[in-house]
Amino acid sequence: MQTLRHFFPQWGTWLDQLPDSRDQDAIVYPRRFLTCWGILLYVLQLGSRRQLDYQLRAEGTQVLTNLNRLLGTRLATRPVHDTLDHFAGHTTAAGGERLRTQLNQRLLRMKVFEPTRVLGHVPLITDGTGHLAFGQRHCDRCLKQRQGKKTLYLHQVLEAKFVGPAGLVSSVGSAFIENEPGWEQLPADERKQQCELKAMDALAPALKRDYPQLKICWLGDALWACGRAFAIARAHGWAFVFTFKGGRLPGLWREFQALLRLVPEQVVTVDLPDGTRQEYRWVNRLDYEDSEQRRWTLNALQCRETPPGEGPKLFAWVTGLPLSRQTVVEVATRGGRPRWRIENEGFNRQKNSGMRLEHVYSTDPDKLRVYYLWLQIAHLLLLLVEKGSLLRRLTAAWGQTVLGWFGSWENVGQRLLESLRNWAWPEESFTPPAGKATRIGLDSS
Ligand SMILES: [Zn+2]
Repeated sequence: MQTLRHFFPQWGTWLDQLPDSRDQDAIVYPRRFLTCWGILLYVLQLGSRRQLDYQLRAEGTQVLTNLNRLLGTRLATRPVHDTLDHFAGHTTAAGGERLRTQLNQRLLRMKVFEPTRVLGHVPLITDGTGHLAFGQRHCDRCLKQRQGKKTLYLHQVLEAKFVGPAGLVSSVGSAFIENEPGWEQLPADERKQQCELKAMDALAPALKRDYPQLKICWLGDALWACGRAFAIARAHGWAFVFTFKGGRLPGLWREFQALLRLVPEQVVTVDLPDGTRQEYRWVNRLDYEDSEQRRWTLNALQCRETPPGEGPKLFAWVTGLPLSRQTVVEVATRGGRPRWRIENEGFNRQKNSGMRLEHVYSTDPDKLRVYYLWLQIAHLLLLLVEKGSLLRRLTAAWGQTVLGWFGSWENVGQRLLESLRNWAWPEESFTPPAGKATRIGLDSS
């Protein structure tokens, strides 16, 4: 609790700004309580909505005492899972988005993302993932995909996340990759399904609205290395670093490789402590004309990495950032490399833990968005608990990492559940110690 209060002291105030919901139950549960109930479903990793009813019983536990104290409410009963689902249908995803933005703005003010900035820009990764898959039509917005003899009906999402130190990733924007209702009735030549690239058209302005002044460096895989994404970056004033592959931009790749041979002196070599040798090379001011005849001046860099006793691996990126002896390593290591994190720390964790990203928490496509956002907020809270120095110091005293000590994220959720149920959180959990301010740092190694 200390960690959460530290990072988010205005917790209660924020929850109150969520849009109102009319509850048809006799008991009215404040929206801050219901939102917290929804987020707890994922923080505690209960796995299904029904588990809320069994695991968070008020009778004989400290659940209500603790939550009333945390949220400043005075409830005598707790909601059942149907009440939560009803609330999910009456609140809007916009409320969850606002809460998420406020959490991120707080992290930005605390300078959490300073150590990972790319030439002064906060790194923002975009990547798409599967959310739900059905064997038969689920709603009129499903993406349709043939797989062998079967047709799958899919819901996917494009995520944008800030990248912080120690594998901290924080969801900042989500675009649901869905078709327009009625798209199948359109004439064949207009019947285009939604995709990641097109979803960014809606996500980018939302990110600009939420972070108008922030210097952002957009990171993405080779899919984004195209005129469409370059144009979005330019329109929003963002820097970018995208994976550069010969298969995606063949002409530009050939030119890059030819020009590299003309500038053999543009090289920086780094020897890592484990014996890996990295050789960075770059070319500035490559001309590129995209399929819509827009002209771009791009910079490109590559890193040939040779671990001891292994063959070399080649990584390359295309960027608008200036490349030189002074900047090339920073652009590659902070801009190019973190790309895998959204997969490892983000989606894999969300799918393979008790958060169960791919579980159908609701079949209603509008409610799904609300559950999805609660999951993203819970994921951030759990990451801060895991990466925050309070818990790390505690487990380090026992010679362990946080995950080494608890064994898994599900176990962290389990311990939080035990605490919520069985332990009346003491007064000092809610008030910072007088005198010196507690500093909860994030591991930046
Ligand atoms: Zn659907």
